Amino acid sequence: MMYFVMAARMRVMDPNLSKVPVKDLQARILDIYESLDREIAAAAPVCKASGRCCRFAEYDHTLFLSHAEAELLTSVGLPQDSTINADTCPFQIDGLCTARERRPLGCRVYFCDPNYEGVGERLSEKYIARLKQAHQETETPWHYAPLVIHLRAYVEGGGGA
Ligand code: SF4
Repeated sequence: MMYFVMAARMRVMDPNLSKVPVKDLQARILDIYESLDREIAAAAPVCKASGRCCRFAEYDHTLFLSHAEAELLTSVGLPQDSTINADTCPFQIDGLCTARERRPLGCRVYFCDPNYEGVGERLSEKYIARLKQAHQETETPWHYAPLVIHLRAYVEGGGGA
């Protein structure tokens, strides 16, 4: 099974981040996503909008994200009539992501382009370290788990479509 990001590769920390004043974690996460997106744009991978990155069972992968990333992703709720399972992402509708600004790191680094091979792994390692550091500095539990776990907890906690 392939994973969007590998839990065992999260040890590198950016020493500059410890000098950044602690601010709201979600704002920090969005800043980190913005930096990541800039690096991805520089690598210029091709996306043919196949939607395969969001159809987990069909393409044998699992999207992992932290609890705080899941909170950001669900901050405006789930799409209407969402089905929560491990097979696919409820935010994908008609082959497109409906949570593009809030989508987690694991989605941002994933591309099918063979010329991008190795870049996604390197960027995952670098930016997961930054996310972990932001969690630590805001004393927020990391709680890194598959999307379906976070979404079930969200629905059980009263969130929903
Ligand atoms: S959040 Fe968007 S990009 Fe990520 S798996 Fe869901 S639909 Fe796909």
